[in-house]
Amino acid sequence: VKRNPHENEFHQAVKEILESLTPVIAKHPKYMKHSILERLVEPERLITFRVPWVDDHGVTHVNRGFRVQFNGAIGPYKGGLRFHPSVNASIIKFLGFEQTFKNSLTGQPIGGGKGGSDFDPKGKSDNEVMRFTQSFMTELYKYIGQDTDVPAGDIGVGAREIGYMFGQYKRIRGAYEAGVLTGKGIIYGGSLARTEATGYGCVYFVNEMLQAKGLSLEGSTVVVSGSGNVAIYSIQKATQLGAKVVACSDSNGYIYDKDGINLDTVRRLKEVERKRISEYVNEHPNATYHEGCNGIWTIPCDIALPSATQNEIDEEMARILVRNGVKAVGEGANMPSTLEAIEVFLQAGVLFGPAKAANAGGVAVSALEMSQNSMRYSWHFHEVDDKLHTIMKNIYRSSVQAAEEYGHPGNLVVGANIAGFIKVADAMIAQGVI
Ligand code: NDP
Repeated sequence: VKRNPHENEFHQAVKEILESLTPVIAKHPKYMKHSILERLVEPERLITFRVPWVDDHGVTHVNRGFRVQFNGAIGPYKGGLRFHPSVNASIIKFLGFEQTFKNSLTGQPIGGGKGGSDFDPKGKSDNEVMRFTQSFMTELYKYIGQDTDVPAGDIGVGAREIGYMFGQYKRIRGAYEAGVLTGKGIIYGGSLARTEATGYGCVYFVNEMLQAKGLSLEGSTVVVSGSGNVAIYSIQKATQLGAKVVACSDSNGYIYDKDGINLDTVRRLKEVERKRISEYVNEHPNATYHEGCNGIWTIPCDIALPSATQNEIDEEMARILVRNGVKAVGEGANMPSTLEAIEVFLQAGVLFGPAKAANAGGVAVSALEMSQNSMRYSWHFHEVDDKLHTIMKNIYRSSVQAAEEYGHPGNLVVGANIAGFIKVADAMIAQGVI
């Protein structure tokens, strides 16, 4: 805390992991001997830079760009870029730290990284977004590469932004290095099923948790927060598997549709027209709109899929969810539950899929995109989706096994953290003091 003052989100992420690693550290003194924890919490490097850009009225603005290359023990740094006004060093470091364990859990050879800017894409024209992203890449290109560091999307960074950044990178480097970014459009090196991967993967993971208890998504009521990339494809997969999704949200408020959310409307409003979720009720008069995001957790549901942002479920909301009978929580977003909220879920015996396991499908398919780029070959949608499904099952299984082996059966927070940790820690020891 002294060394990283005011980095609350980073402290929160580190606390969660370090506490759950206690049994593995006790059992294997080599991790202490090699100061693995001290090394793990210090990023290999954190790059910050100025991003100047000119708006449509000729006014110059300056934002701050970040890239954290957290841990490269098991592969090139890999992790998304977030464009949101709340972005600062603490947010980027918490995301990069989590990413290291998540990427390890996928079983693929990718290290942990993350980046972004405090730029707010909301309300900006396409040209403004393009000028900003070009300026951002004009600095970022120095630090990335298909064997060094491979960024992708996150909040505020989707196919449009990745496209502009890829174009600028190619222009500066004068080479078509397809694997330098993932989340690309299908026509220029993107992978089928990458757009769907995080949401689908989260639902696959929740399905594993339910099935192990003889439960099913079929006939269940689901609440999903957010209405971005992760939320939309969680809604789609949950609905395909027989659930009824009754609510979703954006940063202004949430909609409740007791008949089940009409995903076509949500997709058009958010993916095409870039409008607010409140507009949904104009087309579906039986639905209701409520200002403010938190209230979405007061809607009774069997399954909650927080898929918007960090700390969106606090202790109070967790208690309300439990009181209303929630059976499973799958974290689509990164760190959406506070430490206190997680404790409430675990104490109540709610099936809890922590972010670094439940939302790992996105980065897993990003790694599959890198493989396809290296081979100059594309797999069919169903091939990628099948691989994703298998990866999510494996993540579930390794988290369950680690939880059992280290004395916390059924606690997937502990299980995922330990399973992700061991591979990275052993690789660090094997590579010496670096
Ligand atoms: P998007 O930008 O596509 O969507 C984000 C959604 O969350 C929007 O509906 C947005 O509302 C809402 N939101 C954003 N910030 C806030 C906030 N401060 N309060 C309330 N609502 C907010 O992002 P993604 O769907 O890609 O990401 C969502 C989460 O999933 C993030 O935590 C991200 O790190 C995580 N994640 C994403 C992956 C991916 O593949 N995309 C992979 C793994 C994790 P509005 O439109 O009003 O801003």
